[in-house]
Amino acid sequence: MPLYHSDARAWEVTREGRHVAVFIGDYFARGSKRSGAWCSAMRSQKKLGGDTAPIVVNICNFAKGDPALVSYDDARTLFHEFGHALHQMLSDVTYGSISGTSVARDFVELPSQLFEHWLEVPEVLEKHARHADTGQPMPRALLDRLLAAQTYDMGFQTVEYVASALVDLEFHAQEEAPVDPMETQAETLEGLGMPRAIGMRHATPHFAHVFSGDGYSSGYYSYMWSEVMDADAFAAFTEAGDAFDRDTAQRLERFILSAGGSQEADQLYTAFRGRMPGVEALLKGRGLDAAA
Ligand SMILES: [Zn+2]
Repeated sequence: MPLYHSDARAWEVTREGRHVAVFIGDYFARGSKRSGAWCSAMRSQKKLGGDTAPIVVNICNFAKGDPALVSYDDARTLFHEFGHALHQMLSDVTYGSISGTSVARDFVELPSQLFEHWLEVPEVLEKHARHADTGQPMPRALLDRLLAAQTYDMGFQTVEYVASALVDLEFHAQEEAPVDPMETQAETLEGLGMPRAIGMRHATPHFAHVFSGDGYSSGYYSYMWSEVMDADAFAAFTEAGDAFDRDTAQRLERFILSAGGSQEADQLYTAFRGRMPGVEALLKGRGLDAAA
């Protein structure tokens, strides 16, 4: 299959011999590539006018090498973007306009952040996180230390993030643009009882994420809202006692990964989980629950 660059690789995704999608992985950094990582559909799934199978690409900027050694953070990015790719590839809707990731902004990161959880599943690491020279899986003690360190500094990170999200919401809740944005920021933080030792993750003058366009206006909270959902959704597998539980996986595919924007997000989530998400799994994941 001809591709646009020699670094890009294509896979045909099939299910029981039937064509589902084409997946392209374009993982390595090069001079002409934008920084960051993202998922795009070159062609979205739809049924109107005849079955159209998706063509989906994941773009990353991993350092190329022989072998290419992917850091744990990079591996998380890989899983994140592949979660978006699954949302596109498993889409099963009639209209292209509601296909795959064409969902509400604060719902679109659920499949991607949810898929990151499988990076921490020991069976996955044992199979894929192998030593470049010896082929040995990661030693259990190293894996345990890695997982134990994940809640390090989480109190700081949580306050830092939530402060930015709440200041963003405050700006967009006002009738008119504030005369002095820095004063509004200071007042908002004061009202929150923001600890002086912690700054906002993105203070107003360089909060480009929110102010460079309308896409994320008052939407910075959506990352943590997605985390509420991804932690709660993964807990469905934990409760089933198996990260690969078939029934839970089938519900996930049916109500979320294949459903695109065919229903409101709360209806889709409730159909999958039997209820709306609670905050408990997020707090536990961040080591901030009372038991921690
Ligand atoms: Zn994402």
